[in-house]
Amino acid sequence: MMRIDRHTRRLYQEDPFLCQAEARIVRVGADHIELDATCAYPEGGGQESDMGVLILESGARLRFISAQRMYGHPCGLPDFPDILVAGVIWHTILPEDRPGLLEARPGMVARVVIDVARRARLTVSHTASHLLYLGIERHRPDAIGRTLGCHIREDGARFDFAVEERFTPEEIAAIASTANELVTRDLAVTTDADTATKDARRWHCASHVIPCGGTHWDHTGAIGQMEVRRKRLGTGKERLSCHLPDMRIDLGRYHPQP
Ligand SMILES: [Zn+2]
Repeated sequence: MMRIDRHTRRLYQEDPFLCQAEARIVRVGADHIELDATCAYPEGGGQESDMGVLILESGARLRFISAQRMYGHPCGLPDFPDILVAGVIWHTILPEDRPGLLEARPGMVARVVIDVARRARLTVSHTASHLLYLGIERHRPDAIGRTLGCHIREDGARFDFAVEERFTPEEIAAIASTANELVTRDLAVTTDADTATKDARRWHCASHVIPCGGTHWDHTGAIGQMEVRRKRLGTGKERLSCHLPDMRIDLGRYHPQP
C-alpha cells in the first residue's frame, strides 16, 4: 500500500459538530480537491461520506458528492484491527461543477460547508449501529466474530454476518430490547484517541468501548426507539438492520469554525 507524507487534518475528529471550516487547497485533480484540513467525514467504517460544497476565494461554489480517504494504511495496533490511519481526504466534485476546478489552485483558501442534515442523520445512525451491535454481542455472541461488514445510512444501519444459524424472532426481540434500553437511559457517548496514533479512535458508552473513527452523537436518547429487522441473504448469511423512525436530531448543535 502506498504511503505519502501529506496528511489532511480531520476536523470532524476534533469537533464532531463542526459544519463549516476554512482550509487551504493542497492539490487539484481532474474531479477532486484535496485540502490541508476538512470537516467533511470521508466514507469509512461503514459510515457513508458527507456531501456539501467547497466555496473558493473567487466565490465559485463546487458541490462535492463524496469525501474519500486516500493512501491511508492499517494502524498496526492490536486493539484497532480494521482501522486505516493517516493519508489524505479528497472531495469529489459533482460532474457539472467540475469546470470550476479550473479556478482552484494549490495554496488558495476554500471554505468547506457540509450538508448538516445528512451528517446529523448519519451520526445518529452510526451511534445506533453500536447499540445494535452491543445487543447482538449479548444475545448472539457467536455472530460477532463472523461480521462481514456494516453499512451506515441516513435512516439506519445494517450488519451482515456469516452465520448458519438464523436469528430467531425471540433473539431479534431481545437484541432490540437491549439496544432500546440503552437509548431509553439516554447515556453519554464520548470518543477518544490512541495517545500515539490519533486517527485510531474509540467510542465509549457506559462501560462499553468499541474501536471506531466515525462521527457520533453525544447521547443515546437522540436515536429514539429503533426497530430491528432480519433478512436472509443466502446460504449462511444473515443481515440485521436497525431503522430509526423516532430520530431526534437538533441541527442547532452544529456550528461553523469560530
Ligand atoms: Zn462508531
